[in-house]
Amino acid sequence: MIDEKLKSVYHDIVSRSAAQEEFHQATREVLETLGPVVAKHPEYLHARIIQMLAEPERQIIFRVPWADDTGQVHINRGFRIEFNSALGPYKGGLRFHPSVNLGIVKFLGFEQVFKNALTGLPIGGGKGGADFDPKGRSDAEVMRFCQSFMTELYRHLGEYTDVPAGDIGVGTREIGYLFGQYKRITNRYESAVITGKSTEWGGSQVRTEATGYGAVFFAKEMLAAQRNTLDGKECIVSGSGNVAIYAIEKLHQLGARVIACSDSDGYIHDPDGIDLDLLKQVKTVDRQRLTAYAEQRSSATHHTLGSVWSLPAEVVFPCATQNELSGKDALNLAKNGCIAVVEGANMPCTADAVEIFREAGVLFGPAKAANAGGVATSALEMQQNASRDSWEFGYTEDRLAKIMTNIHDTCLTTAAEYGRPDDYVTGANVAGFLRVADAMMAFGLV
Ligand code: GLU
Repeated sequence: MIDEKLKSVYHDIVSRSAAQEEFHQATREVLETLGPVVAKHPEYLHARIIQMLAEPERQIIFRVPWADDTGQVHINRGFRIEFNSALGPYKGGLRFHPSVNLGIVKFLGFEQVFKNALTGLPIGGGKGGADFDPKGRSDAEVMRFCQSFMTELYRHLGEYTDVPAGDIGVGTREIGYLFGQYKRITNRYESAVITGKSTEWGGSQVRTEATGYGAVFFAKEMLAAQRNTLDGKECIVSGSGNVAIYAIEKLHQLGARVIACSDSDGYIHDPDGIDLDLLKQVKTVDRQRLTAYAEQRSSATHHTLGSVWSLPAEVVFPCATQNELSGKDALNLAKNGCIAVVEGANMPCTADAVEIFREAGVLFGPAKAANAGGVATSALEMQQNASRDSWEFGYTEDRLAKIMTNIHDTCLTTAAEYGRPDDYVTGANVAGFLRVADAMMAFGLV
């Protein structure tokens, strides 16, 4: 429920962003947790800080023309939402997926502001992308698309201004083409203008693994707070991209067993535990579908009907995309003995799913906290670039683990302080909000 004092704020947001459902969902979720904050600190209401936080500082929408391998011209739409720079340069990924539109990029940018604040590192929030579908495109086509995208975007970027990275559909290959074009146009080797670079040219160790590893570190802390561990737990990780693969890797290292993962065509059930080498080969080297995994592994079955969440598991990690886990899925999971849900993707659980987990007493780690490891390691990449240094894997992983522990502890302390003990959603939203709002107030608002 939204507090009486904040209802008009929410109505205002909705009426100013018609048809942006995901943005409404993301802002609503935050407003639902801010009641106790404005009760304690009416100065935030007087300063209209929440309205200000929900309005991006700048929104850039641009045309991205490119030619495919047959010479046919395509026109896509590019976005960059520079949401909030109170804590540092705008920071957040680029998503290339046909579903990308203004509402999606705004919801992602809004969440990013809070997530980045929670890391405790000097990064503001932003997000971008395009409605380009990389599926089935050749390397050359992806390269031309990235070059055209950056030909417009470069003028808005800079290591002190706006620092993009990857997200769905944007990995090291795309970051290479984007950075190459930025360098070509500006004549500057400005490493810290983009993160997620290859370790061969300015990238950080552990960046590729960071979002997945970070989510598992967060889960480990959540269970530890209940005197429990991941060791021996049966898990499901949805998705099979970068986040999912490295969540599975860390879960296996910590003694858990992942029995299922998915892609947009369906899911695989592998009761013996996912063979990670095979999964990496299929998804990252061959760029194939999960059907290819099932064909090469006798213990696995591939399912195109139903949901991966119909399988029983103790700890689950939705790591695919927004709203992939519905209220119905949440009921199934709770009924089948699930004890914890940890969001690796951004907003993967619908609002009613979160409510069902809360009522059933299932521990819930929200994305803003649980998947902050990726962007946190991007900030570590920026630190290394600024000092022209590169750190070793073990040292960097250790930094990431400490950041995740800190985020976890901040969420718990803040939740307790604001009357919602063990509620990580309140903890993450309120702690992130306070950090950004206080910086905005300090700088003077108008
Ligand atoms: N796209 C990632 C996220 O959702 C990472 C952003 C970054 O590294 O800047 O947080």
